[in-house]
Amino acid sequence: MRLLQAEFSTPSRTAPTEYSTHPLNAAPRTRATSPHSPAPMDLGVLDHITAAVTEVIEHTLAVAPDAGPAPAVPDEVYRWAAAATSTAGPGEQQARDTIIYRQGLEHAIAMGEDTVIRRHPCPQCGTYGLLWQAASRRVVCVHTRCTTRDGSSTSWSLAQIARHHIAATNSPARRAT
Ligand SMILES: [Zn+2]
Repeated sequence: MRLLQAEFSTPSRTAPTEYSTHPLNAAPRTRATSPHSPAPMDLGVLDHITAAVTEVIEHTLAVAPDAGPAPAVPDEVYRWAAAATSTAGPGEQQARDTIIYRQGLEHAIAMGEDTVIRRHPCPQCGTYGLLWQAASRRVVCVHTRCTTRDGSSTSWSLAQIARHHIAATNSPARRAT
């Protein structure tokens, strides 16, 4: 995860292996041969990638209006975004990293790899026992004592998990500023 963060902070570095699972690096055509991915799924993935690219481009241009035209190739968009916002304030860079990280989680889940959620500690109790609940599209903590006031399990959006993860990854730098 630190490598993943480093990649987004230093666009000149080569991509770590985790980066290859990111939405913009996934070619939908490779899923066409999978028995688990019929044609409608491919369209969903394409929509997902288009939405992800659009979100990153819009965020980048809001932070760095002089960024210039976004690359036509989706794979290049994250690098372009990181370079264009490399001198933005820490809060803006953190917002960018949070968007990108959340998109990575969304993409992994779309690919059926929802176990990616287990790598994260619960933002409330700090234990590792998070599960993806597809029906509600929420991340649920299974720790029996980690509940809301009404006694139900605590749950989180992917955006909250991403924000917590990026904030925790950046905390030494944030304390220094
Ligand atoms: Zn918890």
